[in-house]
Amino acid sequence: MANLAELVAAAAAPDRDAALAQGRADELRRLALGAGVDVVGIAPASRWDDFVPPGARPYDILPGAKSVVVVGVRGPSAGAWLSPDHRLIEMNGYDFANDRVIHLVADHIEHEYGYQAIQAPGLPVGGHQPAFSMMLAAVLAGLGTRSFAANIVLNPQYGLLYYSACLTTLELPADPMLAQDVCPHPMCVQVYKAGGRTPCQAACPSDDGGCLHGTIGPDNRIASTYYDRERCVSRAMNFGINSFQKAMEQIANEDDAERRRMMIHSDFFTRSASAIAFYKESVAQCFECMRVCPIGRAERKLK
Ligand code: SF4
Ligand code: SF4
Repeated sequence: MANLAELVAAAAAPDRDAALAQGRADELRRLALGAGVDVVGIAPASRWDDFVPPGARPYDILPGAKSVVVVGVRGPSAGAWLSPDHRLIEMNGYDFANDRVIHLVADHIEHEYGYQAIQAPGLPVGGHQPAFSMMLAAVLAGLGTRSFAANIVLNPQYGLLYYSACLTTLELPADPMLAQDVCPHPMCVQVYKAGGRTPCQAACPSDDGGCLHGTIGPDNRIASTYYDRERCVSRAMNFGINSFQKAMEQIANEDDAERRRMMIHSDFFTRSASAIAFYKESVAQCFECMRVCPIGRAERKLK
């Protein structure tokens, strides 16, 4: 039979475990924020069950996964948003702060707490289909909601962010998902009611050569969205692995030696080769739908 001290200790154990888990969550948050990301959110792995089929859940990548830590970081600087030359807002990756910091988070969990951790795969392995959706991870970790603009997940404070995630067998207290949609902003609802388009839809209208369309319901929430991803990719992601492969095929099939020489020395091929060589693929070259978005604009107002 257990003595009184053992009974008291057993009763206090859940509180101790909860306090330990909370302390670790706080420590991971401090670590990530201190290393340069703007936001951190934590979701239980079970949240994916309602949104993705078996094969795309955290447990399918890391057996026994209990939690997903998601970090987000701003892309273009405030100054880049302001430049009158819109080409200068181009973003290069894959060594964003979110990717660097998520490695720190994974290492900390393994080395300090003794639980398994893995950086969620961020690169597409089949066309444009990633093995793990960072957008869904951001939503499930309470960091944002999807928008009319290319389905981009908007954070209520910063707007557009770049996300990375760490899957772990460590059980951590979860953050709630956002109760309120970030998009459409009230100003966008007014613009839509007056002219039938939100600002982002007007910047890139699907019926006039662009990619976006959508409707707002009587409750002022998103009722339907349309996003022409293929058209967007052809404008927003032109330089990198895909463009290198495309150009190589064209060059290899070109019989005319002079034309082949021109293709090899063209700006297009030079930039594509540069993106490969420095592993700095240009991941985004068009921000026009985000440029007109009011979410996060206050954060870009600097001296
Ligand atoms: S990124 Fe550019 S092309 Fe793509 S939806 Fe936004 S404005 Fe349109
Ligand atoms: S401009 Fe921004 S907030 Fe407004 S509808 Fe488009 S994505 Fe949503």
